[in-house]
Amino acid sequence: MKVHHLNCGTMCPVGGRLMDGPDRGSGPARLVCHCLLIETDRSGLVLVDTGLGIQDVRSPRPRLSRFFMTLNRPQLIEEETALRQVERLGFRAGDVRHIVITHLDFDHAGGIEDFPQAMVHVYGTELAAARERRGGMTGRGRYRPLQWDQGVHFQTYEVGGDAWFGFQSVRNLQGLPPEIAMVPLIGHTWGHCGIAIRAEGGWMLHAGDAYFYISEMDTASPRCTPGLRFYQWMMEVDRSARLANQERLRLLKRERGPEIRIFCAHDAVELQGAQSHASVAERAAARPGQRVISPEAGMPASRGL
Ligand SMILES: [Zn+2]
Repeated sequence: MKVHHLNCGTMCPVGGRLMDGPDRGSGPARLVCHCLLIETDRSGLVLVDTGLGIQDVRSPRPRLSRFFMTLNRPQLIEEETALRQVERLGFRAGDVRHIVITHLDFDHAGGIEDFPQAMVHVYGTELAAARERRGGMTGRGRYRPLQWDQGVHFQTYEVGGDAWFGFQSVRNLQGLPPEIAMVPLIGHTWGHCGIAIRAEGGWMLHAGDAYFYISEMDTASPRCTPGLRFYQWMMEVDRSARLANQERLRLLKRERGPEIRIFCAHDAVELQGAQSHASVAERAAARPGQRVISPEAGMPASRGL
């Protein structure tokens, strides 16, 4: 399976470097929406998360809430939408047969309706929370049914099947190869999941919004910027579960680091690292016998705050 790492929505949130750290240059903070496009042998194209969609960028109101537009300042660039990137890679919308979603927040679910042929796989608890718009004012702002209420074919799941490296998981997603699994990481929302994928070179885990900043996964001294710490606190629905899951992810990284590549949805440095790792691996596959040197070795150390 070939995996493309895409940014399907740039946000420049209020707070500047208090959000993404003082070591990322001048100018506004920059958060990405890290999505995956997976080319499978028998299941067509699979998207993991969808970022912002065509209608979000063309006419954001009322699809997006005024509050989150002001706070997160999405840049609304049509070329960044998943649909336009799928087309640039030479495919059509109808080639995307499946969407696996970490959770239904507006910055992950916006592109769902751009792929009307796709089955949307979601943890059942998450779809229920999103339909109820659970969580008061935050719930009404984060869950935007206009993004996914027109003819979307949802497939919901409960936990079941084999564990994934000690985590509860959902295996055997309908119509998808066993190399793709959902791994519930509750806390940010009621039914938030990571998505595990076994591609060439080993497992990767798209951890969604289980954490936001690369240094939160530092196994020796985890840290987060004040802005992103505040944002995660504001958005959480279960603090102890969220923090416990972050700790379990660090443990997984400490024990299985070389085998499993872990990244979250919004860190621009992680996205860049994943993209260069993928292109180095691709070049090496095209020239067998050549030794692969991970670009991570040369990645800038993240200082955090
Ligand atoms: Zn998010």
